Amino acid sequence: MSNGKSQVVIVGAGLAGLGAAWRLAADGFGVTVLEAGGVVGGRAAGEWIDGFSVDRGLGVITSADRNLLALIEEAGLGDSLLPPRPVELAQACGSQVAPILPETLLGLASIPGVTWRDRKRLLRLPRLMKRYAPHLDRDRPERAAGLDFRSAADFARLYLGQSVFDRWISPAVASVHVADEHELSRVAFLLDCVDSCEGSAVLGVARRGLQELPRTVASKLDLRRGAAVERIEKLDDGRQRVRYRRDGAGETIDADAVVVATAADTAVRIADPLLSIAERDFLAQVRFGPLISMTVAVEHPLSSGSRLVRVPHSEVSPIECYLVEAGSPGGRAPTGTGLVTLVATHRFALANAGATDEVVEKSLLAALGRFHPSVARSLRFVRLQRFPSAMPLFYVGAYRALERFQRVQTDLRQSGRRLYFAGDYLAGPRPESALGSGFRAAATVLADLA
Ligand SMILES: Cc1cc2nc3c(=O)[nH]c(=O)nc-3n(C[C@H](O)[C@H](O)[C@H](O)COP(=O)(O)OP(=O)(O)OC[C@H]3O[C@@H](n4cnc5c(N)ncnc54)[C@H](O)[C@@H]3O)c2cc1C
Repeated sequence: MSNGKSQVVIVGAGLAGLGAAWRLAADGFGVTVLEAGGVVGGRAAGEWIDGFSVDRGLGVITSADRNLLALIEEAGLGDSLLPPRPVELAQACGSQVAPILPETLLGLASIPGVTWRDRKRLLRLPRLMKRYAPHLDRDRPERAAGLDFRSAADFARLYLGQSVFDRWISPAVASVHVADEHELSRVAFLLDCVDSCEGSAVLGVARRGLQELPRTVASKLDLRRGAAVERIEKLDDGRQRVRYRRDGAGETIDADAVVVATAADTAVRIADPLLSIAERDFLAQVRFGPLISMTVAVEHPLSSGSRLVRVPHSEVSPIECYLVEAGSPGGRAPTGTGLVTLVATHRFALANAGATDEVVEKSLLAALGRFHPSVARSLRFVRLQRFPSAMPLFYVGAYRALERFQRVQTDLRQSGRRLYFAGDYLAGPRPESALGSGFRAAATVLADLA
């Protein structure tokens, strides 16, 4: 049902905030987005340099990313971004890179390095996934809280064997979460696996890159750039006043509902007057990890198609995974050239937090040269991106904390509070999850205000 009168303020124009704003505007709400920065997209923002798409992450999507695919279509970008360019999944072994097919049991068993003994144990996987599947909802990950008492590593060793962990689960989970895979909850792995293990998720990359999405969505919304929210307060009539600073001056806007779509540490600071102790505790305890990514533009393509390469930690490389693409007309790199986007391991990012950009860049280029020796001769430019707090860490216990937080949200909504939260820390460290949390917040606002 639409509601033409209710006013909603969204704090933050990352994917979560834009997703919430888009859906609420489509439902007839008066929506204003306040974004502290000068650009939209938050951690998914990107830029174009000399015809190359320079993104913060790999931008790989799957056919199971229904939130992203829906928003691309709704925003009218279907023709330029879809269908996604197919991406082959491959894995490094020594200096070789070979395709892998983990969506079937046979494909899993054929991953180089999986032992004969563990191949037999893989037969348990379909039964295990069937048992867990009713609890696994990527848009409502707290439903799996009851499974959140074991790490992905312990789960793998217990049921599937060390070699399956080293050669499949660790590279798969660490390439998405860029975190210590020994501390990651098994729920993080199971949520990623639920689509791919069923063979229903086809890998791809949006033709012009995902960075087009936030820009287009934002252009159709009432958005104030450079508006840094400082405080959200409750008014006597039950509405909320949002205080923000723009161009050095303090401004306010009143709203029937506010969606806070910033990182957790900002959320706890700006929403403090409205929060319960349990919420403050949760938001203050959300952990984010560092991330280093690098875009390498090359004169000649390094592969004929697009390939996502995972590098198992047993290969002792600073690279966690990388995406190689060949230039194409209207694509992410000019025809005849090539593009590599790589993500460094969590361990490398931690160990090199104090190293200079030059040192980090050199190490990563040398590591890439192991798999693509021609890269050094073909460099056009390199862009390094370093973020101390890039990815929410879903370590063991995070989903149980999330479940308690969501329960408190339900209670406070019932008592009339109209404050909502969205962000990757509530769903998963992927654009799809961030967007899903924004859609979820919008649906909740709609249910409360309509
Ligand atoms: C370097 C890097 C690489 C990544 N690589 C990958 C990858 O390869 N694959 C993958 O799936 N994911 C990757 N991610 C993660 C992914 O980009 C995020 O999960 C997702 O974009 C988070 O979206 P969000 O909307 O939750 O938060 P954000 O994008 O952080 O959005 C929050 C917004 O709120 C704004 N804001 C903050 N404070 C205020 C305030 N006081 N007032 C108003 N606005 C405010 C911010 O400026 C920002 O625009 C990467 C992230 C980084 C940083």
